[in-house]
Amino acid sequence: MEQVLEGTDILTCEERPRIWRYSYAAGPLRSKFLLHLRDDKKIMGTICPACGRVYVPARSTCLKCFESMEEWVQVSDEGLLETFTVVYASSPVYPEDRPFAFGIIRLDGADTGLVHRLGEIDFEKIRIGMRLKAVFEDKRRGDIRDIKHFRPVS
Ligand SMILES: [Zn+2]
Repeated sequence: MEQVLEGTDILTCEERPRIWRYSYAAGPLRSKFLLHLRDDKKIMGTICPACGRVYVPARSTCLKCFESMEEWVQVSDEGLLETFTVVYASSPVYPEDRPFAFGIIRLDGADTGLVHRLGEIDFEKIRIGMRLKAVFEDKRRGDIRDIKHFRPVS
């Protein structure tokens, strides 16, 4: 893994929910994933050399066969909604306007789902299996929120 990550900057992730604030080292794997989001607007994953599963976000070990994964592959910024939740209740943890929605999106080329916000969407029309596309922030900072949300493909 070190060879693949050679030269990768290590990022610090900032979490700022309303009731606490903290930061942590993202580590080399997550940093590389986030740097591709920030610098190239590319969504990258790692591929297992034994079974061929593609993990997004990237992982260092295959959950199916426990092989180490060192090869990176780009996946699409579009995919299928596997499941979702719409939040109507108030919570101090999420300072978002309500309602808002999260989903698990399996991007084309990936075998795993990415949890992210859904936006530009009618909450009453969200359906499992609908096609979604990533919308990137104009000003990106090396954070999973560099993907603003996933919107329906029209
Ligand atoms: Zn595997």
